Amino acid sequence: MERLLGEADFHRLASEFGRSELVIATRAALAGVREAVLEGRVEETSFRDAIASIASTVRTQLASTTVPSLVPLVNATGIIVHTNLGRAPLSQPAIDAITRIARGYSNLEFNLDEGKRGQREKHAAKLLARMFPGYDAQVVNNNAAAVLLVLNVFANSREVIISRGELVEIGGSFRIPDILERSGAKLREVGTTNKTRLADYEEAIGAATGLILRVHHSNFRIVGFTERAATEELVALGRAHELPVIEDFGSGNMLPLGRYGLPDEPTALESLEKGVDLVTFSGDKLLGGPQAGIIVGAPERIQACRKNPLARALRVDKLTYAALEATLSSYVRESALEDIPIMKMLSAPASEIESRSRRFVDHLETIDGLDLTVMKGFSKVGGGAAPEEEIPTYLIAVDTSGQSAQRVLDRLRSQCPPVIARISDDRVLLDLRTVLPEQEGLLQSALKKL
Ligand SMILES: *Cc1c(COP(=O)(O)O)cnc(C)c1O
Repeated sequence: MERLLGEADFHRLASEFGRSELVIATRAALAGVREAVLEGRVEETSFRDAIASIASTVRTQLASTTVPSLVPLVNATGIIVHTNLGRAPLSQPAIDAITRIARGYSNLEFNLDEGKRGQREKHAAKLLARMFPGYDAQVVNNNAAAVLLVLNVFANSREVIISRGELVEIGGSFRIPDILERSGAKLREVGTTNKTRLADYEEAIGAATGLILRVHHSNFRIVGFTERAATEELVALGRAHELPVIEDFGSGNMLPLGRYGLPDEPTALESLEKGVDLVTFSGDKLLGGPQAGIIVGAPERIQACRKNPLARALRVDKLTYAALEATLSSYVRESALEDIPIMKMLSAPASEIESRSRRFVDHLETIDGLDLTVMKGFSKVGGGAAPEEEIPTYLIAVDTSGQSAQRVLDRLRSQCPPVIARISDDRVLLDLRTVLPEQEGLLQSALKKL
């Protein structure tokens, strides 16, 4: 050990990775050699080789323990809002804002006009007020936190009336009934999975009722014999009984999706205009910003949310405000379609993806044993945004002679950066809709390595 650590190679490793990490890794490598000797697996010559190569063994080990586990990757799945893949890629203005604020001090909780302590909630508030005129807003850690906070403020130890058709689970860990329970509220289920009428809500209202909750169908759809009370009807019912009506929107699309050939989803603003008291939605789904939960409603209701002690525990940091303000600013300046990657992906016509795909394939035509075909297919809006909404697209089918689709998929995933694709009909499919233009080169080198 002493002799190894004295060698020049090891001096370099010590300055790169730190001496204590080096000692741990070297000890482990020596233990490996020692064990092999004791088990009689090592001849004289291979023993010398093992000792000679120990610096490189140690380097590999140290490099693998110090690389970050969170790495960028290429999303070629065509699923635009992919919760497992980090949801929304940020816009350039949002990235710039994060960098600017991360570098130094900021007025996070400092009022520059008065020169004294200020409120962090002021950030993003002005922009949100532009997007939701007449309303106030509170930003928390994510939409789950937004729902938790709102329920705690308005329904602690009281009943929350919710349709059985809306008791949803979103991605394993977010179940509306569980959040309800933890918020201190009591669940009062009404109606059935496929039909909940206004009368069902009405019959459930009593002295213990705290609020009426509506939850957007984010990741599934109930089709066929269905009925759902209209938002206006629920609002009228809430008013008559002085109960707040709250809507968990999930995706937070700001623009009417119908314009891009997608089925129209109601926007949060439309719900507020219909009289819904508070809406909540995520910052990193269709809004295309950082992870956040946004609560919008009448100023006095938002004020009540701010005063709740949970708000302190659920608050967001300066980097989130920085990215969120930049993202919201793109909407206010009406440049969201150009600035925000999620919006670009959603609105790109199939013909544009087709020409991108053909250019991409033409570029790679010459590789032996690799066959790329451009074909029609579908992209998806994805997790917790618009349920199963399919967008016509063009796909690149990858055929490599002699390798199974699963093997190709696995090998693409093991590239640096990893490429995530999908398999259909025993072929690997790539959808350029979700591949950022600047990543096309990376995708090409990954394919070459196949
Ligand atoms: C996605 C979603 C949530 C959870 O939002 P997070 O920002 O992931 O916490 C809650 N409700 C609905 C309807 C959703 O779609």
